[in-house]
Amino acid sequence: MTRVAIVTGGTRGIGKAICLALQAQGVKVAANYAGNSAAADAFAAETGIPAYRFDVGDHAATLAGCAQIAAELGPVDIVVNNAGITRDGVLHKMSFEDWNEVMRINLGGCFNMAKATFPGMRERGWGRIVNIGSINGQAGQYGQVNYAAAKSGIHGFTKALAQEGAKYGVTVNAIAPGYIDTDMVAAVPAPVLEKIIAKIPVGRLGHAEEIARGVAFLSSDEAAFITGSTLSINGGQHMY
Ligand code: NDP
Repeated sequence: MTRVAIVTGGTRGIGKAICLALQAQGVKVAANYAGNSAAADAFAAETGIPAYRFDVGDHAATLAGCAQIAAELGPVDIVVNNAGITRDGVLHKMSFEDWNEVMRINLGGCFNMAKATFPGMRERGWGRIVNIGSINGQAGQYGQVNYAAAKSGIHGFTKALAQEGAKYGVTVNAIAPGYIDTDMVAAVPAPVLEKIIAKIPVGRLGHAEEIARGVAFLSSDEAAFITGSTLSINGGQHMY
């Protein structure tokens, strides 16, 4: 049986690597993105994976987007909540909009995607939800009260929904990446990045594929007894 997956923010960075890892596992994958159509078109042409544009922070748009994917690819078995943004700043300079936008997309997106897909998984008796948290949601990070709060919220969301899905064959887990060499980290100023790398025991940034392998495993039949768990993939930077 071919399973169907949606990877939010799947057209670039970690999400793209997750799409490819699931595709290699024989899963029929749909990637979602926010608005970078050039990246999405290049992704679709390169991988053959269809890309669907909707804002995961928008409840109605997410329900409609997931319904379209289910109509075109089939009932959704696997959801990877990977879409995320940063709007960094120290609290005394952070605007309410920057707080709210990060909560709306990074945490609200998980709720919206689950509302669209979890009931179907529960009815069919099989499902996998993997939420991409962050080391900064576990440990906190200067200048990121919004991002750290949203990512920390993802870890709580994961444990709560795991309890609701457990007896219906639906597992819900999180992965907490450390610093990974994507566009998001390329935006960090070089001197700050050097200091960050100096604190990673493995001595380098992680690669998107190293997160994707964890997602592919947690999305498989073999991971049926793992639920409510957070897998840290961070080069030893935070042992939690
Ligand atoms: P990128 O910035 O490289 O890619 C982000 C992806 O998310 C893009 O596809 C983007 O779409 C999409 N996206 C952003 N906002 C929305 C939205 N509102 N609705 C739908 N899609 C959206 O991010 P990374 O690959 O670096 O990060 C992926 C995830 O991993 C994020 O949740 C991030 O917080 C987390 N993470 C990353 C770490 C890192 O070191 N890179 C470390 C820890 C966690 P578009 O192309 O259209 O803009």
